[in-house]
Order: sequence, then C-alpha cells, then structure tokens
Amino acid sequence: MTPQSVSTLLRAISQPARVEILLAIGTGEACVCHLETATGQRQAYISQQLMALRSAGIVTSRKEGRNVYYRLKNLSTLDLIHQAVEISGSRENDLPATGPLNLYGECPCPNCEVE
Ligand SMILES: [Zn+2]
Repeated sequence: MTPQSVSTLLRAISQPARVEILLAIGTGEACVCHLETATGQRQAYISQQLMALRSAGIVTSRKEGRNVYYRLKNLSTLDLIHQAVEISGSRENDLPATGPLNLYGECPCPNCEVE
C-alpha cells in the first residue's frame, strides 16, 4: 500500500456522515432504512455515502428480499475511528454508540422488529 492509497482510504472515511454511518453499522449489518433512522438523514443521502464507502472497499452489501444490508468489510475500521478520538487527545467521547442498536418503535427494518 502506498501513501497515496492510505490517504484515499482515510479520505473515504473522513466525512462526518460516513463516520456516523460506520458506527451505526458497527459490528453487525444494517439496511438503508435503519441507517436513515439511526442518523436522521434522508435515504438518498445515505445511499450516496454508502456507495462511496463501498467503492472505497470499506463496506460490503448483500441483498435479502427487498432490503440491501451493509456491513463493514473489516471491523478494524471501528478501531480506526476510536483511535482518532485517542489521537485527538480529547477526553470527551461524543461519538454515537457502536451498532447495531435495536431502534424498536422508531425503525421499520426487520432487524428492529420484535418477535
Ligand atoms: Zn432498524
């Protein structure tokens, strides 16, 4: 890997919305509607960010029924985000919790349904 490709990878993660999406997916997988609920952003915007993350090789997706589920290709991405907090020297960590969270009652996705 070259310095250039490290830079390209970090740049793909660097937008605040993408950091938020990556944390919301966390160690599990999430569909677009779940990410909409988790981040409060519109679907078109989320899809655009996911496309960029996928083309950078950071997330991968699978289709099940009408839903497309996204997950992190490598969970070290979460460590990288948390390392950034560490490096910043900030004592406050205002990052959203690492998912997947059950947003039952707010989110219509199958993962948030209670049997
Ligand atoms: Zn959900």
